[in-house]
Formats: sequence, structure tokens, C-alpha cells
Amino acid sequence: MTLTITGLSKFYGSFQALKEVDLEIGDDEFVCLLGPSGCGKTTLLRVVAGLEGYQSGTLRFGDRDLSTIGAQDRGFGIVFQSYSLFPHLTVRQNVGYGLKIRKTAPAEIARQVEHLLKTVHLEDYADRYPWQLSGGQQQRVAIARALAVEPSLLLLDEPLSALDARVRAELRGEIRDMQRRLRVPTIMVTHDQEEALTMADRVVCMNAGRIEQIGSPEEIYSRPATRFVADFVGSSTLLTAEQAARLGVEGAAAAGSRLFALRPEDVTIRLDEQGPGRIRNVTFLGNVNRVKVGIEGLELLAETGRLPGLVEGAAAAVEILPGAGVWVQP
Ligand code: ATP
Repeated sequence: MTLTITGLSKFYGSFQALKEVDLEIGDDEFVCLLGPSGCGKTTLLRVVAGLEGYQSGTLRFGDRDLSTIGAQDRGFGIVFQSYSLFPHLTVRQNVGYGLKIRKTAPAEIARQVEHLLKTVHLEDYADRYPWQLSGGQQQRVAIARALAVEPSLLLLDEPLSALDARVRAELRGEIRDMQRRLRVPTIMVTHDQEEALTMADRVVCMNAGRIEQIGSPEEIYSRPATRFVADFVGSSTLLTAEQAARLGVEGAAAAGSRLFALRPEDVTIRLDEQGPGRIRNVTFLGNVNRVKVGIEGLELLAETGRLPGLVEGAAAAVEILPGAGVWVQP
């Protein structure tokens, strides 16, 4: 079923947290809401969940208007950042809780819980209490609990942000595989661009209560539509048309107020005593060096592998790869 959000606005008092949001989420899509702290992504998720109201616009799931349906009756599964498990219930009881409330027969509950615990790799932990589990394990239980009631839509609110980097990476893959297998449409809130780019079918990039751009991870990264997206997702050098013209970038004359966004990997440098560029700063990132290079009174971000003599002050030839960069709205 399709979730359709149209012209949705939400106020907290006089503060507008969501501004005319339009978004459609298809049958078995995994969509990430990505944006900086305070941009409204959690608010949007909570509105979809039915935990917050809204002032204008429409919210439909399939042919149902959700405005008159309470959170309990929407049939959605929700996982929060803090695991929010019932502390006095075991893993098995936590996962089976929703089914028990629905008066499912005990044998059926046992069967489904066992299946779900296998899915999240916790079959050996069924009789433990939440405090006897690691953060990653608790979040697996929370996911299993949300899935137990066979939700028609799964809502994940920064489910991985409290976990350490290794567990986070592991769970990313697991959640994505599980979602594909179960084919449940999913919305995940994150402020982590890598998480959004690696997990989502489509990324919804939000800023100050508005959607800036919706696209596949590839589109969002390679063809950002606005300055905000070019800047928030990955790193970019942003140049005015006049500055881009100085570097011989095509299309600068017709660019108007648009900005030219250039990824560091689009700019190559070669150490050359006769070169017009000057290395301003080098940051070692392990597999590559991120370099700030001055040229034509501008400063560009560039990327390079190991180069002997790559130090501040060195002279360099600078090349922008042909066809690289995009013009974005200011
Ligand atoms: P974060 O990543 O920090 O959670 P977010 O993008 O999820 O950020 P929201 O929690 O949706 O942001 O908040 C959006 C804006 O609405 C923020 O400016 C926040 O201060 C405001 N806000 C959220 N909840 C309330 C509330 N109950 N009352 C008043 N303002 C609120």
C-alpha cells in the first residue's frame, strides 16, 4: 500500500516544524528521512505514526484517510532510538507482547516469536531480560517486537544512533535484508548520511521543515539540487558563476545565481613546481588525502592518494575532471 502525504504542515505554537510536505512512499520501499538536527524529520515520522497531530494537509495510507485513525489502530510498527523495551519482560515476552494484546493463541505466539528471534539472530537469548543484553541486542529485540504484529508500515526513529560504529554497520545490513525479505514499506529517520546512502531506496533530504530533495542515494549524491544538499551530503566546494568561469567551467555564463558544486574526488592535483596551485592543507583520511588547494584566488577541495612532498605550501597543477560538478540552486 502507498503512503501519501500531501501539503502537510505542522506547528508547535507559532513555530512551524513542517512546511507543506509532499511525499509518497510505495509498497515495499525503504525511505530515509535525512537532515540535520531540528529539521523536522522526527516530527514527520511521529505525524505518520499518529503520535503527533498536524494542522493542514492530508495523510493517506492506501485508500484510508489517517486523520481519523489513532496511533494504536494504524497497524504500524515503530522502533525508537532508545530501545524502550519493557524491562520486567523477557526477550520472548517483549517480542510476543503485541500478539498477546491481540489475543493471539499462545501456541501461535510461541511459533511467531521463535521465528522472529531467529530472524534477528537472538534465538539463544529468549529468556534474558533487557538489562542482560548489549545495546545492539536490545535494538534487535525492539525490531522483532515491532515486526511481530506484521505492521503494514515500519517506522524507525534513529534506531542505530546509540550503537557503536561496528554494531551499527552490522545492523544496517541486517535491517535492510530483513526489510527486503518481509517487503514491508519502511521509513527510517537518520542524521547520518552514510546510513541513508547505504540503506535507502530513496533519500528524503530535509532542511528547516521542508523537503529539499527526494532521490535515489546516487541522485542525491551525484546530482544535488540545492546548495543545502550539496553541502550536507558529502563535501562540496561551492563556487559562484563568476568563480566557476575563472576556472573555465562550462555553462558559467548562463548559470545566473546558481552555484557550481564540485566534489573533492572531481578535482585532481599533481605536484608541479610550475603549477598555479598551492597546497593549503592536507588531511589524512586513511585511504586518501583530502586536500585544500588554492588557485585563481579560490580554494578547492581535492582528493589524492599518497604523494611524496604533499605538504602545505607545495606548488601543484590542478585539474577539474571533464564533466564533473553540478549547478545547484543557491
Ligand atoms: P533531531 O535529529 O535533533 O531529533 P529532528 O530533525 O528530528 O532533529 P524534530 O524533533 O522533528 O527534529 O524537531 C523539529 C523542530 O520542532 C525543532 O526545532 C524542535 O525544537 C521543534 N519541536 C519538536 N518537538 C516540539 C514540541 N513538542 N514542542 C515545541 N517544539 C518542538
